[in-house]
Amino acid sequence: MAYIQFLGAAGTVTGSKHLINTTYDSGGKQGIQVLIDCGLFQGQKEWRERNWQDTPVPAREIDAVILTHAHLDHCGWIPRLVKEGFRGPIYATQATIDLCSVVLPDSGHLQEEDAAFHNTKGSSKHSPALPLYTLEEAQDCLQYFKPVVVEETTQLSPELSFRFVHAAHILGSCMAEVVLTTNGQSRRLLFTGDIGRVRDSQVAPGKVVHSGPQEGESADVLVMESTYGNRQHPDTDPRPELARLIRETVERGGSIVVPAFAVERTQKFIFIVKELMESGQIPRIPVYCDSPMAIKAVEIFLKHSEEYTVQAADLIKKYGSPIEWPGFTFAQTAEQSKKINDSQFPSIIISSSGMVTGGRILHHLAQRLPDPKNLVIFIGFQAPGTRGAIIKDRGPEVKIFGDFVPIRAQVAALEQFSDHADPPELLEWLRTFAGKPGVTYLVHGEPAASSQLRDLMKRELGWNVQVAEYKERVEVK
Ligand SMILES: [Zn+2]
Repeated sequence: MAYIQFLGAAGTVTGSKHLINTTYDSGGKQGIQVLIDCGLFQGQKEWRERNWQDTPVPAREIDAVILTHAHLDHCGWIPRLVKEGFRGPIYATQATIDLCSVVLPDSGHLQEEDAAFHNTKGSSKHSPALPLYTLEEAQDCLQYFKPVVVEETTQLSPELSFRFVHAAHILGSCMAEVVLTTNGQSRRLLFTGDIGRVRDSQVAPGKVVHSGPQEGESADVLVMESTYGNRQHPDTDPRPELARLIRETVERGGSIVVPAFAVERTQKFIFIVKELMESGQIPRIPVYCDSPMAIKAVEIFLKHSEEYTVQAADLIKKYGSPIEWPGFTFAQTAEQSKKINDSQFPSIIISSSGMVTGGRILHHLAQRLPDPKNLVIFIGFQAPGTRGAIIKDRGPEVKIFGDFVPIRAQVAALEQFSDHADPPELLEWLRTFAGKPGVTYLVHGEPAASSQLRDLMKRELGWNVQVAEYKERVEVK
């Protein structure tokens, strides 16, 4: 009997890893073992420490990875898996591979920086502190990626095939439909990865990717994300509010700091800023996109035009490449990044990581948070325990580079920019299913979010829904 084991994103939103084993046998490896996603745990220490634990099955015994998208909480553990001995193919869309080729080495670089920092401060219980993986190891793992065309079936073994379908979450993102055929019986497993906004561009402005989630799905086993399981996005257009927040900050001489994922989220945001400037709703102040992958990120974004919504395509046609926009600076080197700190005039600084877990955003926040003139805007989900969540919840202070930085700047969150569907949108999509799945496991949510969504789905749809637990094994019946 085949089983699924939840090795991450169960009880939390990070560390997505779901193992499929096609032959249930506790005595050793049989059949084929495939990992759906291989993400990094982020946030609370309790979870981050799991990045250092081996997988329950040896990495070399995993035959393949199917990767839904390029967010670190879905792909960021791949270099470690390879370091532990995995040598199989990693299947992903070309856009996801392009994103991973900048995101993973950047992650390796941050791991090295972190370890070096702990060594100089002596703040790690390990001596010397080591990186989870290095930049070089991250680059090395890219050779195992294999591009897969959306909706084309790939046969991994006689008993397992899969195909990607659009998820509308970020550039390149997909759900994985897996078909298991054992003992003459076929079962469909649908792993959603992260699910994008179902609504149109009025309610979810700046939505870049056009299609998905696909209607008319069917599954015997549905493994679904539940990040926003207990919260609804506001259904107002956030642009007037964004314009007002920026204007007020500029009037009092402050700067705007925006933590954002370097690829897509940043580009989506700067297109909105550009529009607000061109229409005179905000003043023309300098905009800095600060990331070692700043230029590459724009190039990848512009390359994958096949993914755009009509609105996104129109904006790109109208304004061209952001690299050429006057007043917009793409800081790649550390020197260019430091220069932004010298700027005393109001500006907009967009930098990663989006949840303030590392990266150059740390410098900008350490410098700008103590001053009430400034504004920090969150445009993405902040996992509990991350610095992003502490700042968003307006804690009195946040620890950055070993020091406590007071949070005196104004803090705002515009949830409409989220790339995750909320409960009404999820229901809207689930109602299009051809039939009830035999069982649904909710993953990728804080416990309160997952259990509330479970109750809602039971009540509204009458489905058999369970919240997955960390390391839990479930038989595929
Ligand atoms: Zn994601």
